Amino acid sequence: MSRTPLIAGNWKMHKTVEEAEDFIQGLLPRVYAADGVDVGLCAPFTALTALIDSTRGSRVEVYAQNMHQAESGAFTGEISAGMLAELEVHGAVLGHSERREHFGETDAALAEKVVAALGAELRPILCVGESQAEREGGRMEEKLRTQVTEGLAKVPDEQLGDVVIAYEPIWAIGTGLTASPEQAQEACAYVRSLVAERSAEQAERLRVLYGGSMKPENAAELLALPDCDGGLIGGASLDPESLGAIVDAAG
Ligand code: PEP
Repeated sequence: MSRTPLIAGNWKMHKTVEEAEDFIQGLLPRVYAADGVDVGLCAPFTALTALIDSTRGSRVEVYAQNMHQAESGAFTGEISAGMLAELEVHGAVLGHSERREHFGETDAALAEKVVAALGAELRPILCVGESQAEREGGRMEEKLRTQVTEGLAKVPDEQLGDVVIAYEPIWAIGTGLTASPEQAQEACAYVRSLVAERSAEQAERLRVLYGGSMKPENAAELLALPDCDGGLIGGASLDPESLGAIVDAAG
């Protein structure tokens, strides 16, 4: 089965509405002709509406970077899947390692968030990945197994392929260190094999992204890996030319 690659920029806490507008005016002509690649921007909540308006009718999808699992309630500062769907957002990044580390995001909460996103017809991008110490201690597979199986625990088998999983080794995020093609392939294939334990058919549909210092210079070799179906890109997504070059590498 051929899977359409997804190149998603994760802006983190960068870009005001004005900066987001400038960026999109640079990106749209740059990716206009990129056939057979999905392009996503994971933006701060404040820039979502402006981006949805400016990307309407284009190939660029807009994602939030977090959401709460409940439909509504006394959760000050949080935003629900329904609220994002009302804005016509396409999906949400869930469980980024920065959220797990700085905001105490747990696999149990993520299991709820993934199904809440699917229930609102949003595409979840579930992030998983091991730390340097876990890799060096031979615990990469154990970590990925826990995060993938617990994060997907509440997703019905027939919907597993609607989830996107981003394999992001923590030691490669924002560090300039990139996993070697062998390391990235091994981990992306392992993630897919975990989903195949529940449904081989859905595992073939599932897109597994690589994230961790992906940039124009290393994108082509990572995106050519058999089990890597795109990238989640932080630093290199802040400039339209550099994100555009990665989109080119995926096409
Ligand atoms: C990320 O934020 O998900 C990421 C991979 O960041 P960077 O590309 O900067 O390593």
